[in-house]
Amino acid sequence: MALSVIPEKCLWNEIDRDDFVVQKLEQTDEFDVLIIGAGYTGLWSAYYLHLNDPSLKIAIIEKNTVGYGASGRNGGWCSTIMPMSLDSIAKGHGRDQAVAMQNAIFATLDEIKTRTTSLGIDCDFVQGGSIEVLRSENQFVRAENRVRHLRQYGYGDDFYQLLDRDETLNMLRANNTLGGLFDKRSAVLHPKKLCIGLAAVVRAQGTKIIENLDVLAYSAGQVETRHRTYKANIVLRTTEAFSVNFSQDKRTVIPLYSMMVATEPLTADVWSEIGLQGRPTFNDGRNMIIYGQRTADHRLAFGGRGAPYHFGSKISTTFDFNQNVAQRLRSTLIDLFPILERTEFTHHWGGPLAAPRDWTFNISYNPATGLGSAGGYVGDGVATSNLAGRTLADLVCNKSTEITRLPSVNHTSKKWELEPVRYAAVNSLTKLAMLADWREDKTGRPATLINGIINKISGG
Ligand SMILES: Cc1cc2nc3c(=O)[nH]c(=O)nc-3n(C[C@H](O)[C@H](O)[C@H](O)COP(=O)(O)OP(=O)(O)OC[C@H]3O[C@@H](n4cnc5c(N)ncnc54)[C@H](O)[C@@H]3O)c2cc1C
Repeated sequence: MALSVIPEKCLWNEIDRDDFVVQKLEQTDEFDVLIIGAGYTGLWSAYYLHLNDPSLKIAIIEKNTVGYGASGRNGGWCSTIMPMSLDSIAKGHGRDQAVAMQNAIFATLDEIKTRTTSLGIDCDFVQGGSIEVLRSENQFVRAENRVRHLRQYGYGDDFYQLLDRDETLNMLRANNTLGGLFDKRSAVLHPKKLCIGLAAVVRAQGTKIIENLDVLAYSAGQVETRHRTYKANIVLRTTEAFSVNFSQDKRTVIPLYSMMVATEPLTADVWSEIGLQGRPTFNDGRNMIIYGQRTADHRLAFGGRGAPYHFGSKISTTFDFNQNVAQRLRSTLIDLFPILERTEFTHHWGGPLAAPRDWTFNISYNPATGLGSAGGYVGDGVATSNLAGRTLADLVCNKSTEITRLPSVNHTSKKWELEPVRYAAVNSLTKLAMLADWREDKTGRPATLINGIINKISGG
């Protein structure tokens, strides 16, 4: 049976908005801080800069509209996951710094909860945890190893808990469940509502957000646009995957596409079959990354990697949709929950996220030049971007705090390889992850060799 095309539109854009404000840069405008990009990183940076120093004159310049990038399109996992491993931080900076970094992410979840509540940002935030369903012996063994590893860093049952089959089914009734790994601290939210709410708060603080203005180039003290070059002592670049369009940032990250689908609102009967009461986010233990959430309006929003990397780190709106990946996501979701066989899939969209060569995000500021940037969160930027914005604000205001001493501050990653090596390596990684899952399904044995090759190529 031919599968129907899933309509190409982003679910998160379907919100009532009465917030349209057109702000323009005037010839006479003068700013202390210019921020490039109005995603979470740019918005949180502006918010905390104002708290640190209300006298600062701040503007954010956005090529499209607020939340146009990954911040307005993501899976809404406001999670405790970091893109880099605890071991890789410990290797470079010691065990204590690895723990400090992870603790800062846990604290960030509390910070986002407190701020969104006190600022009246209604973004459907619920701290319901995150459940990874373990659906094969291999997935179970990998989860046990991970829990053992987390325990070595001091994260016990208060943080992560292995669940048996019944405990897992109580939370989520996926096909072939053997058990689960429950992350108790993670949260879920509506990505675009957070962008819009945050933008309103930042505007109310006095920051100008100039939309539909493309920054063509930037350097210390200045930002070039088609109208004119604007001057400011401090320039912060918060453009994540889109950074590859600036000459100095070309090979610092690569844009990787992540894709999503969403179902129609599901009936109470269907939900009683699936579970997810309390809205924990969910995935399973396969090698290829997948992520899902029960939305506040009773749909399933579900995403995954597996879209191709485009030669030369090209970004294009035509890559925001990929029906092959969308159909694969639909099949995966039906495999998890067969009751969805007849469900209508109403939305499909995607977008680029940024991956540095060592999968380690960075928050950088040079007081001598006034240039700063933050990003490289891979697919874990919803919570991390808040930490990054807070940290950038402290660095700019010359405040020495716990977070300005974290290992991600002024971290530099190796540059990505030149093409065509980059193209070959990145697309092989995607294919290998799919192959590893296929082999594990077929043989029931761990795809150790393939996973070894993946780690070798990715440096993980
Ligand atoms: C489909 C998808 C699903 C994801 N799911 C999750 C998830 O569930 N959990 C999670 O933690 N992370 C997830 N991520 C990653 C997360 O969304 C990002 O890490 C995070 O939103 C990055 O925020 P940002 O503000 O740094 O960048 P962005 O949100 O990408 O914002 C950058 C902004 O800069 C603007 N810009 C670019 N170039 C210019 C220019 N020249 N001039 C002016 N403005 C410019 C863009 O228009 C954009 O608005 C996902 C990403 C995608 C794409």
